[in-house]
Amino acid sequence: MSNSTAQVLMKKGKRGAAAYIHADCASGSPQHLGPLLEVLLNPSKAIDEWETIDWCRWLLAGGRTPDEFAAVVRSYDKHDKCGLVWIPRVVAYRCRTCGISPCMSICRECFHRGDHSTHDFNMFLSQAGGACDCGDNSVMKEDGFCSNHGNKCPRPGTAPAELMCVAEAMMPRLILRLLQHFRESSTGAANSDYYRLAVQECEGYVQMLMEFNNMGDLMRSAMTKALINPQMYRDLVSPPHPDTEYGTYMAESNKMYEKAIDSFPAPDPPDEYRHLPALAPRLQHNTLLDEFIFWTFKYEFPQNVVCFLLNMLPDQDYKEHLTRTFVMHYARIPLVLENSADPETLSNRVVHMSVQLFSNEALALRCVQQLHLLHVMVLSLRLMMGKILVQNTLHDPERNFHYVIDCTKRVMKEHCYWPLVSDFNNVLSHRSVALLFLQDDALVDMWFEFLSMLQGMNVNIRETGGHIEFEPSSYYSAFSCELEAAAYPMWSVLAHLTEPAHAPLARRIVSAALGYLQDWLDAVHFAARRTEMMHASFHFPLHRYLAAFLCAGVRCMGLRAADVLPPPALLALLAAHPLRVQSLFYEILAGVWVRNGLQIKGQAMTYIQANFCNSMVDMDIYWLQICAAHLPADQFVDMCIDVFGVREWLSMTPMSQVQAAEQDAMVEGLLTFLAILVSSRTNLGNDELTQSRLEVATLLAAGDKTHSQLLELMPERSGNAHTRNFETVLKELSVYRAPPKGSESLEQGLFVPTPAVWERHYDPLHVLRRAVHRRDFHASMDRFAAYVRDKQKAEGTGAGVGPLWPPLRPATAPPPAAGDPRQLCASGVLHGALLAVLHRGVRRRYAEGAEAEAEPAPPDHVLALAVYLLAVAADLAAERALTHNRDVCVAEGAGGSGGARVAGVPLLRAFAGGAVCDNARTLLLSVPPPPRAHGPPQRSERRPHSDSEPEWDAPDDAGKASLPAASTALAVPADRQLVRGSSVSDDQSDTGGDTPEIRALESGSSDSQALVLQGLPRIRADDDVEMEARHMTLALPDAAAALAADSPVSLHYDIRDMEVPDWGFEGNLFEESPAPALPAPPSDDPQPSSNTQIQLHTQTDEQIIVNESIISLLLKLHSQLSGRLDSFSLEEPPPPSQEPIGDGPYFIGALLHKLAALDARCAASVQQLRRSMWPLQRERQAEQRARERREKEERSRRARDRQQQLMREFARRQQQFLSAMAGLGAAEDMEWEDEVQRDYDCVICNTTAPSTPQDPIGLVVLLQSTSVLGHRRRKGSGQARLALSEVERERLSMQHRGTAAAHFYRLHDDLSLYFDQESWVLSLSVGWEGGVAAQSCGHHLHLRCLRAYMRSLAASQRPHNLHVERGEFLCPLCRQLANSVLPLAPPPPRAPPVPPADHRVLAAHILDMLERERPAPTPSCLSEAMGKAMEEMTATATNKLKMRYGSSPAAIFTFVASLVRTNVECELVQRGGSLVQRPTPRYKPRGDCIVPLIAVAGTHALALSAAAGRLGVGSTWRALAPPESPAGGACGAPACSPAPPARPVPLLLRDPTALLMHFLLLAPQAPPHMDIQYFTCIVRALYALTYYQVVNQLCATGALPAALRALRGAEAEGDAGGLAQAARMLLNTLAGHHLLEDDADSATPDREPDLHTVELEVQELLLHFLRISALLRKHIYGGELPRIQTERDEFAALLRYLELAGDEAAPTADRALPPGAAATAQAWARQLAAATTSGQLSVQRAVRTLHVSWAAPSLLALPRDYDRLFSYYHGRACLQCGAVPKEASVCLLCGTLVCLKQACCRRHQQAEAVSHAADCGGGTGVFLVVTSTYIIVIRGRRACLWGSLYLDDYDEEDRDLKRGKPLYLSRDRLELLQAQWLAHRFDHTKRTWVWHRDSL
Ligand SMILES: [Zn+2]
Ligand SMILES: [Zn+2]
Ligand SMILES: [Zn+2]
Ligand SMILES: [Zn+2]
Ligand SMILES: [Zn+2]
Ligand SMILES: [Zn+2]
Ligand SMILES: [Zn+2]
Ligand SMILES: [Zn+2]
Repeated sequence: MSNSTAQVLMKKGKRGAAAYIHADCASGSPQHLGPLLEVLLNPSKAIDEWETIDWCRWLLAGGRTPDEFAAVVRSYDKHDKCGLVWIPRVVAYRCRTCGISPCMSICRECFHRGDHSTHDFNMFLSQAGGACDCGDNSVMKEDGFCSNHGNKCPRPGTAPAELMCVAEAMMPRLILRLLQHFRESSTGAANSDYYRLAVQECEGYVQMLMEFNNMGDLMRSAMTKALINPQMYRDLVSPPHPDTEYGTYMAESNKMYEKAIDSFPAPDPPDEYRHLPALAPRLQHNTLLDEFIFWTFKYEFPQNVVCFLLNMLPDQDYKEHLTRTFVMHYARIPLVLENSADPETLSNRVVHMSVQLFSNEALALRCVQQLHLLHVMVLSLRLMMGKILVQNTLHDPERNFHYVIDCTKRVMKEHCYWPLVSDFNNVLSHRSVALLFLQDDALVDMWFEFLSMLQGMNVNIRETGGHIEFEPSSYYSAFSCELEAAAYPMWSVLAHLTEPAHAPLARRIVSAALGYLQDWLDAVHFAARRTEMMHASFHFPLHRYLAAFLCAGVRCMGLRAADVLPPPALLALLAAHPLRVQSLFYEILAGVWVRNGLQIKGQAMTYIQANFCNSMVDMDIYWLQICAAHLPADQFVDMCIDVFGVREWLSMTPMSQVQAAEQDAMVEGLLTFLAILVSSRTNLGNDELTQSRLEVATLLAAGDKTHSQLLELMPERSGNAHTRNFETVLKELSVYRAPPKGSESLEQGLFVPTPAVWERHYDPLHVLRRAVHRRDFHASMDRFAAYVRDKQKAEGTGAGVGPLWPPLRPATAPPPAAGDPRQLCASGVLHGALLAVLHRGVRRRYAEGAEAEAEPAPPDHVLALAVYLLAVAADLAAERALTHNRDVCVAEGAGGSGGARVAGVPLLRAFAGGAVCDNARTLLLSVPPPPRAHGPPQRSERRPHSDSEPEWDAPDDAGKASLPAASTALAVPADRQLVRGSSVSDDQSDTGGDTPEIRALESGSSDSQALVLQGLPRIRADDDVEMEARHMTLALPDAAAALAADSPVSLHYDIRDMEVPDWGFEGNLFEESPAPALPAPPSDDPQPSSNTQIQLHTQTDEQIIVNESIISLLLKLHSQLSGRLDSFSLEEPPPPSQEPIGDGPYFIGALLHKLAALDARCAASVQQLRRSMWPLQRERQAEQRARERREKEERSRRARDRQQQLMREFARRQQQFLSAMAGLGAAEDMEWEDEVQRDYDCVICNTTAPSTPQDPIGLVVLLQSTSVLGHRRRKGSGQARLALSEVERERLSMQHRGTAAAHFYRLHDDLSLYFDQESWVLSLSVGWEGGVAAQSCGHHLHLRCLRAYMRSLAASQRPHNLHVERGEFLCPLCRQLANSVLPLAPPPPRAPPVPPADHRVLAAHILDMLERERPAPTPSCLSEAMGKAMEEMTATATNKLKMRYGSSPAAIFTFVASLVRTNVECELVQRGGSLVQRPTPRYKPRGDCIVPLIAVAGTHALALSAAAGRLGVGSTWRALAPPESPAGGACGAPACSPAPPARPVPLLLRDPTALLMHFLLLAPQAPPHMDIQYFTCIVRALYALTYYQVVNQLCATGALPAALRALRGAEAEGDAGGLAQAARMLLNTLAGHHLLEDDADSATPDREPDLHTVELEVQELLLHFLRISALLRKHIYGGELPRIQTERDEFAALLRYLELAGDEAAPTADRALPPGAAATAQAWARQLAAATTSGQLSVQRAVRTLHVSWAAPSLLALPRDYDRLFSYYHGRACLQCGAVPKEASVCLLCGTLVCLKQACCRRHQQAEAVSHAADCGGGTGVFLVVTSTYIIVIRGRRACLWGSLYLDDYDEEDRDLKRGKPLYLSRDRLELLQAQWLAHRFDHTKRTWVWHRDSL
């Protein structure tokens, strides 16, 4: 029954039925809607039927049309919020000034309607999609709302009640229909592909719902009401179902739904959380929306459904409901993600939704409080990760029961956890939520359980065998996981802890972290005593949480570190792993892990990289600073020494070379690390501003950088603390340097450090800590040194200063609450270690002096670090002395000025106390040799430095120069090392060879010993220690004797008895893990290896003699570095400045002064040591100074001699040069014929020879097809600009019809309509589009040499960047691309000079020359080469030419002649279109191709003319310059041409420039060699032709007749000048031929032209011919073009230059006409008249447009703001295929939009840009890719990414609009691009060209 009503209704038609239903609904209880919908929405029909959808639209409209209805509903929209939802890859904006939440984003329209011009905004391409926040004041400030949203719009009235009645009644059913579809589809396969299909089926239906949605508030609320009403849902789906077909269906449908619910994966929470509703095992759905969300999850967040759901968010009730429902389903997300085929897309869609829901604080808080959102999130994350755990392999795997995440699993590699983490962070960014989180113990516990899963993940195992073959990249997932899942939430939470009231919260986290850490230590079974050197991980988030919360607590919550730290035993254990990370880092730098491949370096880099450093390395350093401050100093330093594995080195134990090499690097690492610990204040006292300053200074120090580089490299944590200060600090510390104008390398704007950076902020240690590439550090030191050099030069100081030491900044006192890491400097162990460093430093110099073998020895920077640490110790002692009494300084051993003496104690135990002054004075006599039970501890298999190992560089910049990996830290830059290396010998030469003294000074003993040492043959480095020691004991110098008088306090330590601190690491770490058997380390030492050493060491039980104190070593070092004995003196005051800028002696001196000031006994020790070491120094110095003086005199005398000799030589050469010049001057008077013997240098065989027919030489050229000339536009037609609107687009396409190419095509068509093909083809030039331009680098080669060269190119593995088969090669000399050679014809034998003659005589000669028979050229290598060159040029020209003009001899001849013309015209273009002098263009035209080109073309033309009967050239000449004798036949009686064409083109229509080429090619015997008088004669004759053509044209256009009419009144008719006469003659002759009749366009001249104006116009039109002639004259006959200053002079100057007119200042054009021109012209006019008795129209057009003055071609003008360009072209459809291209690109020559790379517009396998480049640019295309801002240049088969024309405020490119800042046109770059295009230089610019393979 109901069906029948429906049928009746439907018969009414859509509109009628709708009106009826509307009335039905308006009544309140609709009777008929239900039945109708039952039919319409019958679930057995396909959901997407168009008819159904259309019915729904009409029904909803209730009697209106759907469009009317939509407009009415929209008019009631309140415009509160925009809410526009967009999908990925849509442009949106973000304004940081207006945003309250960082997630804020607004749509394009809202952005442009609002005012953000002065704000900090950016445009971005949305990655995950989003929604517009305009109008939402919880997300953005109201100022930023656009004029349409918020309250800025007038409120609409209330809508009539019945407007929406149908919509409200229909909506539930409409939505239910969609759910029914989902239910039905759920029975299919459960995989992503099937889901996609199911969603596709309802695409149109969802689209319809979206449309309704877009009608605004009213419709939206009708929809949301239906969605969130529980009753409605129950009514629709709950049983009982009626006993109808539909009822049965619904029952069935419910079953499907139940099944889907049951089969949907459910989370499995721990028992204590099962009661949480959001974790309930079964989902409960109470509304349509609930079920809708379920299907959204089930179908993996289909894009259209997500957009539909988000579109209704402006409705607050709905948003609340949606969020809650979302949370209820949230726990299912991990399961959906794990199963998805494309987790990345799915993640984006999840976040697209969740970001909108959780960004609102109040709502998020409600979800947390009522629905336990945080629990759900953390549990979800934990459950997800819980599935991929593996046993941890750190430490002893047998006893390790800790489980960590397996980074190789899909969840990690595909980043599946990302949406969960992102939501978690988003929620924690709300303060109220974060505080709730911290207060909930259960949550914190759960969170730490999760963190423990990351603790120690991704364990690296050191490779010791071969290189590992497979380098896993899974490490990066470990890093990003720690950052995103652990660190970001940490920073989110920490951002809210700002005041002392929060201290309990911080404490809670600290103690939780300690608890979990302790559990973890147990789990991994790390108790004590040993650490693992072969296994290591970078991931210790628990430590880092502990550090971060402690740091924040100390910094701003009033915590004291000491109060919350665990007891020392545990603290030491907790230091172990971060310390191991540090040593691991330096091991990687030192190459210890080299066999693990590049990935391990990647890890080290990631660890310190900008995004990670705050969360990783900085936290580790902070934590170790805390440990250093709270652990006993000796214990801590001991621990470091062991973890860094440098005990042998620092104990002065002899080592194998390999071991020494490795430990060298590690000592450097250790000292660097310790120096950072004591000095860094990054988290220990620096406020944000200070820290920002340090970071910016660090970045600037390493190199000048662009704004975005700086911003990108600023260490980032989740907040934007640093960027907040960034601009201020940048302004303070840098100077902006704009890119230089005119540069070819597209430079960008750079920030350059100010002096303040170098003087105050440059911290080498911080640079090292941040230097992902070591070269950054080296660069910073170089730049620092350069700065200091300049400064010293400016101040006149700095003479005699040695190489600078790194300016290590003083270590300031940290805030007391944190503890003071500097206390580690008060360690006897450290002092012992530093003594070892200094000792080796002193000995190294000794070794250098003795030229002994390289010995493990610290370079300068290591000494600098050692001195620095001692200075810190001294400063600390001085600080403490102020607060404590001095009685802490207990002198051990004997009193007096001498210090204590120690012997027989291991070096690192030598100093019992930590007092630096006592230890500095203590004389260490000897150390015991190491106990050696086993073989040498071959810990390392690292190869020595020299080995070529992979460099410390990411693969991404492989190939850039970088320093070898071996120099790890604080390395002095390479060149400075060189300086240092050679400085010793310099010193020696300077001091006059007093090497013995120097050596003596270095060994601290007398000359003889040094000599003895030197005499010993090849002492091994390791033996040295012994040798030297023996010598020293034997020699017992005075000093030692004196000291020995006080017998040493003999302390007998037994190593075995020594107490070992209980934190472990003591003893031989490697005993338990014997080193694997290794191949012998590569060694360049011929002497066999370590066996002898072992014997040596084990045999002797001797003590290793040292006999030094720290002070004595410092004194020696000072003296060595300053190159003087006894160089230091306490009497000299310390340097006044506090700047740490200076060389070694400066720093050592400062330290000695400090020590002396601290303790008088140190001062005494200094004095005593000096006395004993250098007793006779004063005398020696005097002697030395005398010697130096003598030397200096000698040197300057020698220099004078050398200089005089140089002067003599110079004078001689000058003389030679002058005489050569004189000879040249004499030659200058001669003509070109005298250059007969010109020789060329062959760049292949390097011989110099003339070109001969048998062995020709060629000019290297690059031939390319060109359309530059075709792109000229009429002068005065205005510049063509890139279209930015439809109107402009139309105009541009109109303008396109005015280009030269279009003009010539029209002219050709006109001529071809009426005249014979043969004749009109010979009347003009071709190749305006697709012509051939030749360009040369100016180098020559033998053609035979080239052939060999090409053969070798083709044979060898062919260069990938050359198309050798197509004849491409690189010029062997300049490496520029070339593809042909122009053979150079030897000039013909000199002809007798032609006597000066009259025009007519010359003309007659020329006729003879043209008509004389010539023998065919004899074949030779040369003629063959000429033929080949011509073939290559023909191949270069586009096929279009052939198709258009055919291949008759005439067409080929025209092509050949046009080749020459094209190249001359191109030169003119490059000169700016005229010969007026202008500033030098970017690319100077090179003219050296023209003459060889004419020669090649001429040879070819002669051959052609022989074959085709001279092509009528003779008769043309006869007509042009009629011979005097046969008076009557002026109009061209044919002499020798064959049957004349029936309809020849009259002369007045033939292109004079084209004819010029013809005569030049055909008249001379060997083109272009011809007497200059003939040239002038030809030019003059053609000038006359041009003149009359121009006059004729101006007559035809009406300009001249009008001027004549104006004349009539004023002047007598007779002598109105040549122009008037010429005009009258033409007008009379052609009268009645309808050629000159006025028609519409000439009837209305805007003003009456006078004759003078017309004369100027005539000259203007004549100029082009003159310019071409002048250029030809210059090329053929040499010499300079006239210097023309202004445009006005050009005409006269060119007439003079061409010898057509005399010295008149402003001649009229007719002055240059040959005698009798008027009569000849009359004949021409008659010929024209005769030829055009019919077909006037096309002839008329030709007459009127024959001469045009062209403006220089140019690229389309571009708008200044990129945004305008982007707005118009982004999303614009291609006119060819109608689709919106993905990478829309615009041709800058014509403005066409092409589909770059797309298949849609492919033609014959050619993508659109390539084929367009061929059509439009003759193979050269210049495209602007709209979304990337980049220019793509296509050149033939190659393409390159040229760069961007648009730069931001900092002159930076923004490729792909990544930053989205406003971009502006760079004029300089546009000029460069245009210049390269005009000069055909693209191939010769240094860019990366690739083969485009037709795919662009
Ligand atoms: Zn908007
Ligand atoms: Zn808006
Ligand atoms: Zn704004
Ligand atoms: Zn050669
Ligand atoms: Zn070259
Ligand atoms: Zn184009
Ligand atoms: Zn296209
Ligand atoms: Zn297309």
